[in-house]
Amino acid sequence: MNPANWLQRTAIRVPQAPALLDGERLEADYSAFAQRSSAVGAGLRSQCGIKPGDRVVIFLKNHTRYLELMYGAWFIGAVVVPVNAKLHVRELVWIVENSRASVVLCSEQYISELRASLEHSVAVLAADNDDYFQLHAHGSLTNPVRMRPDDLLWLFYTSGTTGRPKGVMISCGNALAMCGSYLADVDTVEPEDTALYAAPMSHGAGIYNFMHVMRGARHVVPVSGGFDEREVFQLSQSLEHVSLFAAPTMVKRLVDYAKKHSLGGEGIKTIVYGGGPMYLADICDGVEVLGDRFVQIYGQGECPMAISALSREQVSDRSNARWRERLASVGQAQSCVDIRIADKAGESLPTGRIGEILVSGTAIMLGYWDNPEATANTIRDGWLWTGDMGSLDSDGYLTLQDRSKDMIISGGSNIYPREVEEVLLLHDSVSEVSVVGKQDADWGEIVVAFVVLADTDVLNEKLLDAHCLEHIARFKRPKRYVQLQALPKNNYGKVLKTELRKRLN
Ligand code: AMP
Repeated sequence: MNPANWLQRTAIRVPQAPALLDGERLEADYSAFAQRSSAVGAGLRSQCGIKPGDRVVIFLKNHTRYLELMYGAWFIGAVVVPVNAKLHVRELVWIVENSRASVVLCSEQYISELRASLEHSVAVLAADNDDYFQLHAHGSLTNPVRMRPDDLLWLFYTSGTTGRPKGVMISCGNALAMCGSYLADVDTVEPEDTALYAAPMSHGAGIYNFMHVMRGARHVVPVSGGFDEREVFQLSQSLEHVSLFAAPTMVKRLVDYAKKHSLGGEGIKTIVYGGGPMYLADICDGVEVLGDRFVQIYGQGECPMAISALSREQVSDRSNARWRERLASVGQAQSCVDIRIADKAGESLPTGRIGEILVSGTAIMLGYWDNPEATANTIRDGWLWTGDMGSLDSDGYLTLQDRSKDMIISGGSNIYPREVEEVLLLHDSVSEVSVVGKQDADWGEIVVAFVVLADTDVLNEKLLDAHCLEHIARFKRPKRYVQLQALPKNNYGKVLKTELRKRLN
């Protein structure tokens, strides 16, 4: 069950199939990809003494080497700890120490700072200069180490918008469950397909590589190493059959760019979107401009990419009477999980009632690294408590509200910020919005909307208030508006509501 076996089998089957591309430039076919990964594995073993189960931290921008390093680590049964390349070195150090990693593979620029900051002896190697090739100088391995379904594969640190990040333990079995569900519920993968890594490989986009390795498809890392709208469209046009994972903010940027340049998304097969709320107005716009190229997934680090999915047909079928309703949902449970909605005591709630989303199944993490208390709080009786609020309809479609901590209670009534945000986004003057609660002596909390305007106009509160009154109950409308040039977002493009709340103090 070692992913390195998947790579090796593909390399035997289609050795000359193009595997790794830097932009349009071919870096390695499958034979070379497997050979390099095996050499990295041999290097990590002889140069750094890495054994099965040891943690290997990767702190790199998107790069084709990211894949070689991951598979190299898996070749010898080690655990990949992917760290977002935009984190501060201090945050990286915390993760290295917490995971008790044996080696850090990072960009040359961090080497000395990292060595000076780490308390324990940890090997630190540059992976973006010629030192990388030293790792290849220790021969190669014939076969990957055997890994079992419960063996740890991917130790992913949560983004930690509240408190310290926690290490989420994803096993080989979890990864396989996610792959199966992708092929059953999200999309097909054909050998001529192209996985484009425009979102960080340290997150969902990285763990989404497996299906493409199994099928012998191409892996393309943009030369920019990240997300650039123009580059995504250019690469899609030249390489074709492109699939990419994109957070909702990226989708919005792609759609805005396509509109501006009269593009229809030629060459893009699928945009899998998720990772944060996609507003109805934005996805309607997306379908209008780019057509039937979208599939939505809902997941979280603790059940990566694999809680629910809204299929291509459902995202695109405007003739369906329930199109908008479906589009506002995150779809049905993926094949590898069950979903239920529960109250605080864990009792299932009836259809339509909002409660916490609980998930069970084969993609659920093993637990949090070195944190049995947090694990026991989060996985109870085999159900993962996601911290997300939502409801299921009678057809099993899940609609997400907000994270339980983001819900606003004003004058004793529950207000879901998402609902207010959806309404404000319908107004032409609003480009982006985020709604939070502010403590209030009379109401408990009041609704505050942070708004980014579509043009340079000054915010017109009266107009927005009248607009809200037309669409939602009086008590839900914002009592205060704050105009911002941009919303604060974390490295994955998620709006930082904690930052917004701080601004209200
Ligand atoms: P992370 O663990 O960083 O991937 O964040 C996961 C969280 O992102 C989930 O718990 C949800 O709150 C949110 N999320 C993920 N996918 C979606 C989606 N399709 N729609 C709305 N929110 C989502």
